[in-house]
Amino acid sequence: MDRIDTIIIGAGVVGLAVAKKLAEAGREVVIVEAEPAIGLHASSRNSEVIHAGLYYPAGSLKARLCVQGRDLLYRYCAERAIPHQRLGKLIVASHEGQLAKLEALETQARANGVDDLRRLTAAEAGGLEPALDCAAALLSPSTGIVDSHALMLSLLGDAEAAGAQLALASPLEGGEITPDGIVLRVAGMELIADRVVNAAGLFAPVVSRSLAGLAAETIPAAHYARGVYFSLQGRAPFSRLIYPLPEAGGLGSHLTLDLSGQARFGPDVEWVDGVDYRVDPARAEAFYRAVRAWWPQLPDGALAPGYAGIRAKIAGPGQPDADFVIQGSAVHGVPGLIHLFGIESPGLTSCLAIAEAVAALLD
Ligand SMILES: Cc1cc2nc3c(=O)[nH]c(=O)nc-3n(C[C@H](O)[C@H](O)[C@H](O)COP(=O)(O)OP(=O)(O)OC[C@H]3O[C@@H](n4cnc5c(N)ncnc54)[C@H](O)[C@@H]3O)c2cc1C
Repeated sequence: MDRIDTIIIGAGVVGLAVAKKLAEAGREVVIVEAEPAIGLHASSRNSEVIHAGLYYPAGSLKARLCVQGRDLLYRYCAERAIPHQRLGKLIVASHEGQLAKLEALETQARANGVDDLRRLTAAEAGGLEPALDCAAALLSPSTGIVDSHALMLSLLGDAEAAGAQLALASPLEGGEITPDGIVLRVAGMELIADRVVNAAGLFAPVVSRSLAGLAAETIPAAHYARGVYFSLQGRAPFSRLIYPLPEAGGLGSHLTLDLSGQARFGPDVEWVDGVDYRVDPARAEAFYRAVRAWWPQLPDGALAPGYAGIRAKIAGPGQPDADFVIQGSAVHGVPGLIHLFGIESPGLTSCLAIAEAVAALLD
């Protein structure tokens, strides 16, 4: 049986960031990916927003790793010429009844160390974005967008340059915790590893359950919250990202721009039982209603079905949002094994900071 220092399960943006970090620290790293290409799940089915870190409870991993990850990501993108733009975003209260929520968000952001927010009156917000109709807004200048594919290719390139190997179409099928190491069955082969990082995104709880010898109570339930996007036909009259106030399960269907200036709206929140990325065109009706709360001129027929992503939730509908979970031996008792559970948004923003946290835990 081949013995490998570190196996990373999953080549999404988080697995790749971890691979880069560990390979550059001198570890032998093999990434096993079930799909025939990298990043086919959440990492390529998201809003591609570099979040500033406004929303998450102070002291949570999401708050800390988002703020740290945002700064690391802007620096990394600049160093590697990865397409990105610090566009800024407006979070809008579309009527007076939402002003208290906007204020609470501002307080939360400051508690998280996000100190560059500006409160705007309706007139000031309209001065920046004339098509916007709102009662007040918060301007977040440090929010931006990134080309997630270019980011993943760069992370992979760095990991490979440091000696990491990627095995595509190589699903982890199961394994076992033994006194000699962690035995994994990958695409019909048996490997033994000293360290394993479970970065399987949506499937991280499934991967964890497939490892014999782990206590069931350490593995969270997997919940799937699909979000669909609709793209705008024609140019958007906005130059910044526009977000409503957050809703249960997500940040609210917002307007994001890609690096070519094309606008899309989403993601909404729909709890589903399995992985199905189809977009039901009938969901457009709710999008027209939601977007017209702050852009009344959205023309009829302007929205076309785009794509869908599924959030890797570990809390179900009606439960409070869960934090990221970086689970090591202190919880499950297996040295060298790390599970990454619940890496939903802001996981893209936080990927480099998550990688640092994983490396620190393994050390
Ligand atoms: C709709 C939506 C919008 C979002 N918007 C943003 C945003 O704007 N900004 C932001 O910061 N974050 C955002 N996120 C969150 C972000 O996309 C994720 O946190 C991030 O992509 C997670 O990366 P990952 O590598 O953990 O997971 P994934 O990208 O899902 O990668 C996991 C990988 O593991 C592989 N895998 C699974 N099982 C196995 C197995 N048994 N064997 C081998 N490989 C396996 C999968 O094939 C996959 O490639 C959004 C997420 C969603 C769903």
